[in-house]
Amino acid sequence: MYNFHGSCHCGNLKVDYKTTIAAKDAAVRACQCSFCRKHDARAISDPAGTIEITARDPALLERYRFGIGVIDFLICRKCGVYVSAYTRHDDKAFANVMVNVLDERATFPQPNPVNLDGENKADKRQRHKNNWTPAILRGD
Ligand SMILES: [Zn+2]
Repeated sequence: MYNFHGSCHCGNLKVDYKTTIAAKDAAVRACQCSFCRKHDARAISDPAGTIEITARDPALLERYRFGIGVIDFLICRKCGVYVSAYTRHDDKAFANVMVNVLDERATFPQPNPVNLDGENKADKRQRHKNNWTPAILRGD
C-alpha cells in the first residue's frame, strides 16, 4: 500500500489516501465539467484503497452541489481549495481525491481529459461504486 497525505491550503481539511497504485502508475483524470475546469482539477481514485478526509473545523467544510446533485464537492470555506468529490450510495461512502492537494502532487502523471456529460444518476452511482475509493469523512 502507498500512503499519500495532503490538505487544503490552510490545513483545515486533511486527506489521507491509501492506495495499491504507485503515483507514477495512477490514472489521473481531468474531468471536463464546468466546475472541475474552473479548478483545473486532477482526480484519482482506487476502489482497493481508502480515503480519509478530516475537517478540523467542520463549520468550514463546504459541500458544494450542482447539476443533478448526487455529489458533494468538498471545499474549504476558509482557503477555497477543492480537496475531494464525495458521495454516499446504500450507506457506503465513496470519494476521489484531487492530486493537487497531495504533498506528492509533482510525482503524478499528466491527466487525461474525461467527459462525463450525459451521465444520469444510475450511471454515476455505478461508476462511483466501480471506480471511486471507499471513504471516511470526519467532521460531518
Ligand atoms: Zn483551507
